[in-house]
Amino acid sequence: MRKTQTKKENRKHKNFRRLVLLLPLLWLAACNRQAQPQGSETGLRPDLADKFETIKNLGLRQEKTYDFLKLTTSTGGRLTGSPEADRAVQITFDLMRELSFDRVWTEPVKVRRWIRGPAEEAVVRSSKDGNQTLAICALGNSVATPPEGIEARVVEVQSFEDLASKKDKIPGCIVFFNVPMDRATVESFSAYGQTARFRVRGASEAARYGARAAIIRSMTFRLDDNPHTGLLEYDDSLPKIPAAAVSTLGAESLHSLLQSDPELRLRLKLNCREEEEVTSANVIGQLTGSELSEEIILVGGHLDSWDLSPGAHDDAAGCAVAVEALRLIKEAGLKPRRTVRAVLFMDEEFGGTGGRAYAVRPEREQEKHLVAIEQDRGGAAPVGLAFSLESLKEKLKPLEIWLKPLGINWVRTGGGGVDIAPLKERGAVLGALIPESHRYFDYHHSALDVPEAVSPRELELQAVILAMVIYYLAEEGV
Ligand SMILES: [Zn+2]
Repeated sequence: MRKTQTKKENRKHKNFRRLVLLLPLLWLAACNRQAQPQGSETGLRPDLADKFETIKNLGLRQEKTYDFLKLTTSTGGRLTGSPEADRAVQITFDLMRELSFDRVWTEPVKVRRWIRGPAEEAVVRSSKDGNQTLAICALGNSVATPPEGIEARVVEVQSFEDLASKKDKIPGCIVFFNVPMDRATVESFSAYGQTARFRVRGASEAARYGARAAIIRSMTFRLDDNPHTGLLEYDDSLPKIPAAAVSTLGAESLHSLLQSDPELRLRLKLNCREEEEVTSANVIGQLTGSELSEEIILVGGHLDSWDLSPGAHDDAAGCAVAVEALRLIKEAGLKPRRTVRAVLFMDEEFGGTGGRAYAVRPEREQEKHLVAIEQDRGGAAPVGLAFSLESLKEKLKPLEIWLKPLGINWVRTGGGGVDIAPLKERGAVLGALIPESHRYFDYHHSALDVPEAVSPRELELQAVILAMVIYYLAEEGV
């Protein structure tokens, strides 16, 4: 009995030792399987696993997206209608030709031509505290001040309700909208959305009560001396008054100067003007579908930017990612069943004319846009995908094992953007790749939006993900 037991124990011991020796091998095998998920186990067509591996390796090893971003930003700020925007049209057209996409062309877009003019000035004149210069910039679409500028008392407000309650003080004054982005709102695009109305409508709301000009606190979480511009829209039934953004540090200092001297005056000089409309262009390249060429999977960004910087995050990033997504599919030797198309839209910032022009071109009648994805949320690391069609979440499930290691934590209902919105009426599912956004508004529409603010690797991850997603949708449909 005892003998048998010892034998048994020995055998157990041997088995255990064998298992211990085998464990690292089993672990390695598991890691390998994780590194390259097999088609069969993810519900993917088996051949797609190899293709996705190729796309990922090409993208991350070559990191071409950042080169495309630098090329696009090399023209400088690409304000709609400007010579810089025109050069960007040519450069990106040439780029897609060099990349040998199946078809590359431009489509005309009529755009406005607003010009900032010489540097703006804002000086606080206080009998108590002396003169102090504030960092400001005219808001896009603003009218100029008279050549000598405007000098007036300042009324600070925190909301449109606050403005209405102070209406008796407003006539002849400069209204100062001092509304910080809400730091407690985690989703920074929501914080921006809540505050952007003061930039968009503030001038007309102030004019309603007789103000001569408006200044708006810049929309950023940072405290610095970089004013952030952006579009303002005038209510045609009200006088058009000049409006500028003031840096967040400037806003803080104006606020405290007003505490000590409510009678202080602000001298404001803006030199902007508007010229005749000009013809610009959307730039388009595609890999033509091998079977269903009239069915389109679109990915796009906008080529124009504001003029204070070369608009690296906003939105050279989106353009570069769209071009790279197509390049990766081509370079991987893939021929999608449906057409995959990169559209670099003109004039997102100054009215969205490029997106509207694209949607109504006669050629669109012969095409069916299944999905349109807009990338206009900066070049940071991806965190999620959003689509207007609920069932796409399920459809993209087989890709999860690929997308997760690249940063995609979720697929939500949502998506869309200014440029692709008009395609919704044509039946397209709208989508967006959502990157991490905590730093986006540090740069947005300011002089800080330069290529150095973008990480080449984070940007590349976006392109790799989009290449996989659009190729998959081009194969499988929606
Ligand atoms: Zn943008």
